[in-house]
Amino acid sequence: MLREVDAEIYRVLVNEQKKQRDTIGLIPSENIVSREILRLAGTVFTNKYAEGYPGKRYYGGCQFIDEIEEIAVRRACMLFNSEHANVQPHSGSQANMAAYFTALKPGDKILAMNILAGGHLTHGLRTNFSGTFYNAVFYDVDRETERINYEKVREIAVREKPRMIVCGASSYPRIIDFGRFHEIAAEAGAYMLSDIAHISGLIVAKLHPSPVGLADFVTSTTHKTMRGPRGGLILCGSKYREKLDNSIIPGIQGGPLMHIIAAKALAFKEAMQPGFNDYQKQIILNCKKLCAEFKNRGYRLVSGGSDNHLFVIDLRDKGIHGCEFEKLLERVGIITNKNLIPFDPQPPRVTSGIRMGTPLVTSRGMKEKEMELIAGWIDSTLKNRENNRVLKDISKQIRRFAREFPIYPEA
Ligand code: PLP
Repeated sequence: MLREVDAEIYRVLVNEQKKQRDTIGLIPSENIVSREILRLAGTVFTNKYAEGYPGKRYYGGCQFIDEIEEIAVRRACMLFNSEHANVQPHSGSQANMAAYFTALKPGDKILAMNILAGGHLTHGLRTNFSGTFYNAVFYDVDRETERINYEKVREIAVREKPRMIVCGASSYPRIIDFGRFHEIAAEAGAYMLSDIAHISGLIVAKLHPSPVGLADFVTSTTHKTMRGPRGGLILCGSKYREKLDNSIIPGIQGGPLMHIIAAKALAFKEAMQPGFNDYQKQIILNCKKLCAEFKNRGYRLVSGGSDNHLFVIDLRDKGIHGCEFEKLLERVGIITNKNLIPFDPQPPRVTSGIRMGTPLVTSRGMKEKEMELIAGWIDSTLKNRENNRVLKDISKQIRRFAREFPIYPEA
């Protein structure tokens, strides 16, 4: 059908499908949703306007939409053991924006992780709304250990007296001690926001401590380790419920994406199944195996390794920047992303590092044995970067290999 009505888009869609099928995806924030989630995201729920909340909509005809949102909220609360959940944020960035709007006034000070150390754009970067609206100060990782130095965070918090402390990251490979952040926030008289966008799946599986009950606000995406549709989620205690809901609508959004909320509800159900814990365990096993393989081959990993689903390789002694390595790997069919390393001398478009993670390859059924092969291909690609014949051969092997792990096997 699509082929007939829009051949141009159809062609691009087919190309994207083939690319996903034939490549190895190692971007830690990407995953593959179940076929059912994919279907739900393309249902008639997309046709419905539903500004407001269940029972309090600004549009008629929301009877079934209300049911869907109530199911999604109930499941999110159950899954994360939270008093309240808002499932309407269109993305992780909007979830953070709404949490800020709930607790802060423009010009208030926030203390967050430096983007060089692993923080996210929405954690106060000057060129992001968060750095424009708020006065952001930052903590780094320790130069030696490349881990969060909680005593240092405490010192900064006591000195700077921020109104909010943000913890959570986009490229921090270690466990985050939310209990310690809670103590620091309490001492500094600050709100605590935990952004678990990357690690929410690990938290559900109890493979990473949860900030729920410690943080005033917990924000997340639903599409990374959670393996749901692209979107955001906010958790908080009942006392913030009204203010938080108001900061989503009318604060920053209009109509919710009900087709995505339906898909989020299903993702939460999938995450309650025992298989989800096994999946999260395998993500970590695969990540540890990849780290070990790289270390054996002489690569330096930021902080020496990983406790979670991702790691960052420091490329400074390899004679290649992150941007070039990302492109080189893409030529052979391995999809990664360049990443800043702590105290990176290179700008964000260049970078001295490359970030990799295992949620997506684990969803395709790959295990430790496959991680060994992948590390081998990445290393040979780097070593043979001038040798087109070898690169071509690697790329053929990767395509054959990737097809052995179909994205949607029953198709
Ligand atoms: N917070 C963190 C820690 C993230 O890593 C990301 C995405 O990379 C976000 C928030 C924003 O999510 P989105 O891309 O859905 O806006």
